[in-house]
Amino acid sequence: MPESLSTSDRLGVSLFHRLEPLLEQVSKPIQYVGGELNSTVKDWDCGGFGPGGEELTARWALMYPDAYEIGLPNQGVMILYEVINECPDALAERTYSVWPDMEALLRSEGISQFTVDGHRALRDFDLFGVSFSTELGYTNMLTALDLAGIPLHACDRGDDDPIVIAGGHAAFNPEPVSDFIDAAIVGDGEQAVLQVTELLTTWKAQGRPGGRHELLLRLARTGGVYVPAFYDVDYLPDGRIKRVAPATAERGVPWRIAKHTVMDLDAWPYPKQPLVPLAESVHERMSVEIFRGCTRGCRFCQAGMITRPVRERSITGIGEMVERGLAVTGFEEVGLLSLSSADHSEIAQIAKGLADRYEGTQTGLSLPSTRVDAFNIDLANELNRGGRRSGLTFAPEGGSERIRRVINKTVSEDDLINTVAAAFSSGWRNVKLYFMCGLPTETDEDVLQIADLAKRVIDTGRRVSGQRDIRCTVSIGGFVPKPHTPFQWCAQLGAEETDARLQQLRDVIRADKRYASAIGFRYHDGKPGIVEGLLCRGDRRVGKVIEAAWRDGARFDGWSEHFSYERWMRAAAAGLADEPVDVDWYTTREREQNEVLPWDHIDSGLDKDWLWQDWQDALSDVEVEDCRWTPCFDCGVCPQMDTKVEVGPTGKLLLPLTVVNAGKDQLLETG
Ligand code: SF4
Repeated sequence: MPESLSTSDRLGVSLFHRLEPLLEQVSKPIQYVGGELNSTVKDWDCGGFGPGGEELTARWALMYPDAYEIGLPNQGVMILYEVINECPDALAERTYSVWPDMEALLRSEGISQFTVDGHRALRDFDLFGVSFSTELGYTNMLTALDLAGIPLHACDRGDDDPIVIAGGHAAFNPEPVSDFIDAAIVGDGEQAVLQVTELLTTWKAQGRPGGRHELLLRLARTGGVYVPAFYDVDYLPDGRIKRVAPATAERGVPWRIAKHTVMDLDAWPYPKQPLVPLAESVHERMSVEIFRGCTRGCRFCQAGMITRPVRERSITGIGEMVERGLAVTGFEEVGLLSLSSADHSEIAQIAKGLADRYEGTQTGLSLPSTRVDAFNIDLANELNRGGRRSGLTFAPEGGSERIRRVINKTVSEDDLINTVAAAFSSGWRNVKLYFMCGLPTETDEDVLQIADLAKRVIDTGRRVSGQRDIRCTVSIGGFVPKPHTPFQWCAQLGAEETDARLQQLRDVIRADKRYASAIGFRYHDGKPGIVEGLLCRGDRRVGKVIEAAWRDGARFDGWSEHFSYERWMRAAAAGLADEPVDVDWYTTREREQNEVLPWDHIDSGLDKDWLWQDWQDALSDVEVEDCRWTPCFDCGVCPQMDTKVEVGPTGKLLLPLTVVNAGKDQLLETG
C-alpha cells in the first residue's frame, strides 16, 4: 500500500500536479488525463450542507476494471455516470485500470488510484462501484483497492472507507469476490444507483447513525442490494454448499436478493451525452441501445437469461437518441445495440428511417449481425447503402444441427447457406462465423462439421458471386457454463480436450487445399476458459484463489499477453489447499438437481425448476420458442419481477423525418 495517499488533509483535492510528471514515463499517457468531450467534474460539495454542518453530497467513483480503451466505451458505466451526475446533490467520476507501468510508478511515488475526471483519490469517495462484464476483471479491482489504500477485505474497512459495490453481468454470482466487496447490485443500474444515492444522503443528513454497518444494513433491507457479510454459508463434508442464509443477527435482511429491471426504456434515454475518448478505444462510434433483454432462449447465453424480459425502445426514442448523440459527439458511426438487434419488432422501419435520414452524409450505421437469416442481409444492405461491403458476422454457435438443437440456437444448415448466398449475391465478400467448442453432449464429429459448413459457405459464395476472392473466417471460443442458465449444472470440457478438438478441426480445414486459403481459422486455447469457469461458478472459497493469484502478479487477465494459466493453477493449489474441492470440482464436474448453487440466493427471476427442465430438454435435443411471438412458457421472470415483455408495434415514427443533407444539396446547387 502506498505510504502517503494524499497531499492534503482535505478530501477530494486533485492529485494531477503529482501525476503530471509521471505521464511522460508511461505508455499512452493520454488515458490518464480526462477532460473528454461530455465528461463532467462537479464541485466536491455540490450537495451542500445540513443545518448541523452535515455534508450532504453522495460521491460515486465508478470503475470499469480494464484499460481505458476498453472501459471508456462501456455503456453501463457511461449511463450511470450521467444518471448520477444529473442529480444536484450527487457526483460520479470514472476510474479505469492503470497499466503495470503506471501501477509501478504510483506505488513508488505513493500516489493513490485516481479518477480520470477530477484526479481525486479513490478513497475520498463514499461509494466505489465496479462494473464487471467478465470475471477476468476481478484481479484488476484488487489492484485499484490496494493502490487506493482501501483494505482488500470488506471486514477490515472502517467508516472512512468507501462502500465497494459490484455490478454488471458477472455480479450475478458475486460469491467469489464476496471477501472484497461490501455489496452487489444485480440487474439494470439506472434506478438502483439513484436509490442507493438517496439512501446515502438521508443517512448522512441524519448524522451517519450506526456508521458503516447501519448504512449497509439499510441497503440490504431494500431487498435489492446484496451484502455478503450479512449471509452465512454452510458446507457439507464433501464440499458442496449446505445452505446460504441471512446471519441471524441481521434482522430484516432478505433470504433472496432481487434483480433490478427498468421497464420503460424511453424514460431512460441514456447516455444523452456519450463520452468521446481522447485515446484510441475499441469502439470509435456511439451506441444506441434499441432494446434490452432477449427471450430467444439460447441455453448457453447468460446475458439473454438474466436480462429478461424483452423491453424495446420506441422508434421515436431511438431516432431522438441517434440525432442528439451525433450532434453532441461528432461521431460518424452509430451502432444499434442490443443482444440481437435484428429482433427489434420494428427494426425494418428503424433501419430504413435512419438510412433515409442519413443518406449521403458521412454517418455510418451498423447493426451487430448475429441472426442467421436473409432478413438480416436486407437490413445490412439498407444500413450500408453506398458503403463498402466488407464483412458480415453470423453466430451459428454450434457446428452440427444436433448441437444447435441442444443449445436452442434454431438455425438449420440450409438457413445458413441461404443467408450467406444472399450476402454474397449482394456484394459482400467476407463472412465471419462464430462457434463455440465444448458444448454439452458435444462430440468430435459435431465440431468437425464446422469444416464442412465453412466449405459449403465458400462454394456458395464462389457460385453466386462468380468470384474466387470469397472468404469465410471461422472464429471459435471455448464454452464456459454460466450461472442462471440451463447449463449451470453441466460439466465444462477440460482445457486439453478443448485444444485437441480444435486441433483436429484445424487439421481438417488445412488438409483440403481447395479451401485452405479461403477459410480463416481463429481460436483461443482452452486454458483461460477454465479460469473463467472457476471464477464464474465459484463460491466464497474461490476468493482465496483470486487473492493468491493477484498477490502473485495477476493483472489484466482478459489479455492473453498478461494471462498466466500456471499462475492461476498455483493460486488454486494454495487457496484451496485446506478445502475438499479443487479446480476440476468447480469446472468439469456435473452438478445434481438438488445441489445448492452458490448463486441460488441471487434472484434473477428465472425459476430454478424451469431452468432444470430446460437443461433436461437440452439433453433430449428439444427446442423452445421465443416468448415474444409465442405464448409464455413460464420461465418465471415476469410474475417474479412484476414485469412483462414490451414489444411493438408502437405505431410511432422515427423523428424527425428530415433528411439531413437535403439542405446541403440545395446550397450546393444554388451556390
Ligand atoms: S415469464 Fe413468460 S413471457 Fe415472461 S420472459 Fe418468461 S417465458 Fe417470456
